[in-house]
Amino acid sequence: MTRVAIIGAGPSGMAQLRSFQSAQAKGINVPEFVCFEKQSDWGGQWNYTWRTGLDKNGEPVHSSMYRYLWSNGPKEALEFADYSFNEHFGKAIGSYPPREVLWDYIKGRVEKANVRQYVRFNSAVRHIEFNEITQQFLVTVHDYQQDKMYSENFDYVIVASGHFSTPKVPKYEGFEHFGGRILHAHDFRDALEFKGKTVLIVGSSYSAEDIGSQCYKYGAKQIISCYRNQPMGYNWPVNWSERPALLKVDQTHAYFADGSSIKVDAIILCTGYLHYFPFISEDLRLKTDNRLYPLGLYKGVVWEKNTKLFYLGMQDQWYTFNMFDAQAWYVRDIILGEILLPSLTEMQMHTQQWHDTENAITEIPDMYKFQGDYIMELVEETDYPTFDIEAMRLIFMEWKKHKKQNIMTFRDHIYTSVITGTKAALHHTCWLDALDDSLEAYLQDDSAQQKKAV
Ligand SMILES: Cc1cc2nc3c(=O)[nH]c(=O)nc-3n(C[C@H](O)[C@H](O)[C@H](O)COP(=O)(O)OP(=O)(O)OC[C@H]3O[C@@H](n4cnc5c(N)ncnc54)[C@H](O)[C@@H]3O)c2cc1C
Repeated sequence: MTRVAIIGAGPSGMAQLRSFQSAQAKGINVPEFVCFEKQSDWGGQWNYTWRTGLDKNGEPVHSSMYRYLWSNGPKEALEFADYSFNEHFGKAIGSYPPREVLWDYIKGRVEKANVRQYVRFNSAVRHIEFNEITQQFLVTVHDYQQDKMYSENFDYVIVASGHFSTPKVPKYEGFEHFGGRILHAHDFRDALEFKGKTVLIVGSSYSAEDIGSQCYKYGAKQIISCYRNQPMGYNWPVNWSERPALLKVDQTHAYFADGSSIKVDAIILCTGYLHYFPFISEDLRLKTDNRLYPLGLYKGVVWEKNTKLFYLGMQDQWYTFNMFDAQAWYVRDIILGEILLPSLTEMQMHTQQWHDTENAITEIPDMYKFQGDYIMELVEETDYPTFDIEAMRLIFMEWKKHKKQNIMTFRDHIYTSVITGTKAALHHTCWLDALDDSLEAYLQDDSAQQKKAV
């Protein structure tokens, strides 16, 4: 029987499991599929851990998420087309749920599909190589439950191991002598650690914006964020300022490219992540920076030089869960023989065109359009329920506008679901005042506390 290995049970791997199950449910014969997950539960990034460094098995900690993290984009732009928020929660909820609420939603779909049985937990994939003679992959796994290594053959491999876990850590002059804490965003867990402190955030991406906002919300005395190219440019609270590039630090102070300096207590490096696949043989390894259309992957998923290998979710992500679905359904249909691939040259030309189009983008909103078009190209080739991607793009436009208006209140806005037409409910507490991010606190009904939309 044809065998498929899926590496990782985060949202991408879970989408792949659901895609095979949905074909099964329609009476289609599917190959045997096995998902290897190094953690003891599924959900990938959304499976929070207090740990930093190594996990209980000695593996690098995977999740970079932290306490009090709320969705950074409206949930209406990431909704599954085959499993709505309404179906899961049975009522309308706010548009920016906390991590635990989104984790619950992601799990709800795959629990309903009963696919947990296909996941081997506590199983870290150590090595994958392709045998040209047998045309199969040998996948070597460390089973931590039994503490043993074993290898199995597979006809197809789908890598869904994520790319926001291996920190990119720059070094600045003076770091050895700095008297406070220096950490990468990957190791940030709880903003309360920085209450009353002056925090320097290095970087100007989503991590910088959100970790700085967390520090503000939970009582940091002062926040300074610094950028290499462009400032984030939001209307920051009075105790948050932006400065140009960090040049060096000494035991107490940070020094910037504009000649200014300031005493800081801690430095948080929001400097991004590496695409890192140490478990794949060199010839099969994706090498890319964080972008919307990497080279080498036809339709963003097919390893062009060996079309039995796939990568899911490797793009920089405006869309997330529904993009992973579009990719998973597409990969499934290639494996099922429903979609036939063109020649290597045609695939490479197609990828190059998209890659060049991405390179020509100068404005952020054009990226929403670009990734939306990409998703629709995939959706149209499978039986994944189609949805109004243009309506989702408009949600992103609104989101951007709200952030520009007030970076500390954008999460108090609500949107209408593109999938069900349901308008989100105003959350009972404004984001800035909502200090308890638990699922129970979020879902409790308290209409008396309902706030007016900003
Ligand atoms: C701090 C942070 C905040 C974010 N906030 C949002 C947000 O608000 N909204 C949003 O939509 N997205 C957000 N994201 C993006 C997030 O990455 C995606 O939502 C999603 O988790 C990506 O899913 P994935 O399955 O591709 O990867 P991951 O979620 O990273 O899952 C990969 C899985 O692979 C497993 N794995 C890795 N290597 C191996 C191996 N060798 N063997 C076995 N298993 C392995 C891991 O344990 C993990 O379970 C955020 C990301 C970060 C880092």
